[in-house]
Order: sequence, then structure tokens, then C-alpha cells
Amino acid sequence: MNKVELAKIKEKALEEHIPIIMDDTLDVIAKILIEKRPEKILEIGTAVGYSAICFSEYLKENGRIDTIERDEEREEEARENIKKVGVENKIKLYEGDAVEILPTLDEKYDVVFIDAAKGKYPFFLEQALRMLKDDGIILADNILYKGYVMSDYNKHKQRTAVTHLRQYIKEITENPELETEILEVGDGLAISRNRVIKKGSK
Ligand code: SAH
Ligand code: MG
Repeated sequence: MNKVELAKIKEKALEEHIPIIMDDTLDVIAKILIEKRPEKILEIGTAVGYSAICFSEYLKENGRIDTIERDEEREEEARENIKKVGVENKIKLYEGDAVEILPTLDEKYDVVFIDAAKGKYPFFLEQALRMLKDDGIILADNILYKGYVMSDYNKHKQRTAVTHLRQYIKEITENPELETEILEVGDGLAISRNRVIKKGSK
């Protein structure tokens, strides 16, 4: 991987105020990925490819990341960035709305990273659970949304997003098959591990 190119991609994204993953969040995820060595990762929300490129370093040999971006310009930039860094054999980019693309996928993933429209998090969770391996992990970024999720006062603009993020948190914490922790790193990161409940075994 070309780290010089990666640093340039990060710098440009920050200059353009593209909400790429924050350094402390990336540190936490990197540790999880190093331990897990995933074969397949699903990312919802590519932006310009920064997080996908970072994650690709921790894949198992011949592993792959499937990532979805609906903004055509960003998707094109992501495609170029992935090439510049030299990881095009590890990342498969889907252009379009994840709400439409996810139901067409039928694969099993070790890790799902949710980092797109906050109002769609409950739907993304449903899709992630459908495709998650028995010992898989679902990560959701921006889960505390600048603290709005924990505050009573929300401007109208954020209200729908907050409602859906709270719904997401409720579902992951109440689901008996998931073991969840919510970290205050970055903009909030939810980590939900599938408990390996082997159906039919004692
Ligand atoms: N994961 C990236 C940042 C993603 S920012 C990184 O850390 O580098 C969120 C992105 O999700 C935006 O580019 C936005 O266009 C995209 N997005 C939002 N809703 C989406 C949807 N429903 N389907 C696909 N992409 C979506
Ligand atoms: Mg994010």
C-alpha cells in the first residue's frame, strides 16, 4: 500500500470537509481488525475510500471489502484513490443507494461497518444481521451524533436522525444474540459482536 498517497487522500478529504473516520475511531477499529483478520468486510458509506483503504491492510490474504457509495462524484474519486494506493484487488466498490443495493447482496461478512445516512441505521442493521457470520462484528460510526443522541434538546434538523440512531441503539442492546459496547471515541462507535450460538447444539 502506498502510504504517501494515503496521507494525501486524507489531507484532501479533511480540507474538503468530507466526514472521514476520525483517528481515534480508526485506532479502535484497527485493533479489532488485527485480532479478527477478517476475510470479508462490508462497508456502507465509502465517501472517497479513505476508511476502506485503511481497513484493507488488515484483511486476511485474498480477503475483500465490499463498499457502497451513492454520491457519484465521491464514488469516482474513491475509485481513483483505491487505484492510486494500489489496493484495487481488495476493494469492490458499488455505486448506488445502499437501501437498494444491500437487499441484492447475499454474502457472509466477518465485519460490517455502518457509516452512512443516520436515518437508515435500523435498516442497515437488519441487512447487516442477515449477512453476518456467526462470530461476526457490526460497527456503527457516529452513533452518538455529537451528543444529540443523549440530549433532550434537538433541533428539528437532527430530530429524525436522532430518533433512528436511538432505535439502532435500542435494537443492538436488546438483541440477545449481540454483545454490544458503545464507545465515546470520535463521534461515537457502537461495537456489536455476534455471540456464536450454534443452533441445535446443547
Ligand atoms: N466511511 C468513510 C466516510 C463515509 S461518510 C470514511 O471514513 O472514509 C458517509 C458517506 O455515506 C457519504 O459519502 C454519503 O454520500 C454516503 N451515503 C449516505 N447515505 C447513503 C446511502 N443510503 N447509500 C450509500 N451511500 C450513502
Ligand atoms: Mg463516520
